[in-house]
Amino acid sequence: MGNDLLQRRARLLGPNVPIFYDRPVEIVRGQGASLFDAHGQRYLDAYNNVAHCGHSHPRIVKAICEQAGVLNTHTRYLHEGILDYAEALLGKVSFPGQLLMTCTGSEANDVALRMAQAVTGKRGFIATDNTYHGNTTAVAHLSTRRPPIGGWPDHIRRVPAPDSLAPLGGSLAAQPEAFAAHVARAIDELEASGHGFAGFMLCPIFANEGMPGVAPGFLDPTVEVIRRAGGLILCDEVQPGFGRIGSNFWGHEWLGFTPDVVTMGKPMGNGHPVAGLVAQPQVMAAFREAFGYFNTFGGNPVSVVAAMEVLRVIEDEGLQENAAEVGAYLLGGLRELSHPLIADTRGLGLFLGIELARDGEPASAEAGRIVEAMRDRHVLMGRVGRAQHILKIRPPMVFSRSDADELIGKLTDCFEELPA
Ligand code: PMP
Repeated sequence: MGNDLLQRRARLLGPNVPIFYDRPVEIVRGQGASLFDAHGQRYLDAYNNVAHCGHSHPRIVKAICEQAGVLNTHTRYLHEGILDYAEALLGKVSFPGQLLMTCTGSEANDVALRMAQAVTGKRGFIATDNTYHGNTTAVAHLSTRRPPIGGWPDHIRRVPAPDSLAPLGGSLAAQPEAFAAHVARAIDELEASGHGFAGFMLCPIFANEGMPGVAPGFLDPTVEVIRRAGGLILCDEVQPGFGRIGSNFWGHEWLGFTPDVVTMGKPMGNGHPVAGLVAQPQVMAAFREAFGYFNTFGGNPVSVVAAMEVLRVIEDEGLQENAAEVGAYLLGGLRELSHPLIADTRGLGLFLGIELARDGEPASAEAGRIVEAMRDRHVLMGRVGRAQHILKIRPPMVFSRSDADELIGKLTDCFEELPA
C-alpha cells in the first residue's frame, strides 16, 4: 500500500517531492495532538504547527462549514467578516497596524518585501544565510535551501545566522554585537552597489536556524543599525506567532523590538490556507499607492471565519498559557535526557530543540537517526539548524502533560540506543 502510493506519487507528481521519514507515513485522520494512519495506528504529533488548536478542531471545522454553506467569493465586495477579523487580530498586535490578507506565508513575505521597497524607494534586502521565508521567486532568494539558477542575485545579502555551537564574535555574549556588525557591513555593501538597503527580513526566534543562543535584547544593536540606515524590519512570525512561545503572542514582543511589518501564516487558520501581514499604517499607505494589490482568495469569507475561530479558541482554551505551562514541563523533562551528543536543550513555550554535536561539530546523521527511531515508535518530530542537527519539537498547542511524558519516555529509549 505504502509503496503503491510512493510509485503513484512519483508517476503523477514527478520526482523529488518532499516527504518525511525513510518509511513515510500515510496519515488519514487527525484529532487534537494525534494523527492516525491508514491502518488505524495512532501517532503523537510533536511537529505540526499548522494544526495550532489541534487537528480537526470541531469549532473551527463548524465555522468553516457553516460559512462555506452561506457564501465564499472573491474579495472585492463589501463584507463584514474581514473587518471583524481585522479588529480582533489588530487588538493582539502591540503597535497600531493595518491588515492585508493572503493565502500563504510566502505571499505575505513577498508583499512585505514590496512594502519595504515602496517606503524606501530601494531594492536591497538582507536575510540570514540559514533561513526560510517561502517560495515565491522573490522570497526564495532569501530562503537558502537551493541557490537560484544563475546564483544569488546581487540585491540580496545574506548575513551569517546566529549560532550556538560556533557563536558569531566567538562567544554567546559577543554574538548580538557581532551579528549587528555583519548587518551593518551588508547595508554598506548594498548602498555602495547602487541597490540601496530596503529592509531586513527575519524570524524573531530564528526558528529555522534552531533558536541559536538568542535571548531578549539580542536584536537591539541590529535594530539600531537598521533604523540608522532607514531600512524596514520585516518580521516573519509564521513560526513563533499566535502564542506558541507561551510568554508572548508574538516572537518580536519576547525579543523586545517593534517591527514595521509582521507576517504570519501556517497556524493562522488551523490548516485552512490563510495568511497575511500587519503593517504600520504609513507602510501600508506607501505600498497601496505604489503597487495597488489584489488577492482573489486572500481574506475571503471562509478564510476569515477560520482565522477568527482560531483566535477565539486560543483565548477560550488558554492555549498560550498551555504552551507556557506544558512547554516548561517538557523542557524540564528533555533537560534530564543524558547522552554525550546532547550539546544543548532549549525551548520557548511549545517550540523546543535538542542540539546534537560531536567535538563541537553538528551531529546531523545522529539527529536523523533519532527522528527515524521516534517515527518507528509513533512519535512525529523533525530537524532544523544549519546542518539539520537540532531535533525540532513544535506540536499542536493542545499538547498535554501526558503527551509530554510519552515524548520524553520514547526519546529516552531512542537516546539509549544511540551509540555515543
Ligand atoms: N516563513 C517561515 C518562517 C516558514 O516556516 C514558512 C513555511 N515553512 C514560510 C514563511 C512560508 O509559508 P508558506 O509555506 O505558507 O508559503
